[in-house]
Amino acid sequence: MSYGSVDLSEISCEEVLQEIELYIDGELDADRHAIFADHLASCTPCLHHASFQARLKEILRSKCRQQTPEHLVVRIRTMIRFERFHQR
Ligand SMILES: [Zn+2]
Repeated sequence: MSYGSVDLSEISCEEVLQEIELYIDGELDADRHAIFADHLASCTPCLHHASFQARLKEILRSKCRQQTPEHLVVRIRTMIRFERFHQR
C-alpha cells in the first residue's frame, strides 16, 4: 500500500515519508538527496508532506530555540500520522 498514486521505481513513497526529515535537514548523501528531489518533483502528495514538515520545523525552530522536547516531537509525529491516515 503506497502513500501516493505515483509508482516510481527508484524509491517508494513510504521510504520518502520515512526519511523526509533527513531530506529537509539536508542529512542525506548527495545521491539519495537527488532521488528524493526527483520523487518530490513528480509526486504531489509527498511534496505536500515535505512542505508540511518543513513548515513544522520552521515553527518549532522559531518557537523554541533550545532542543525540541521529546514529548512534543512524539505529539507532532502522531499528528502527521493522523493527517496521512485522513489523506488516503
Ligand atoms: Zn511519493
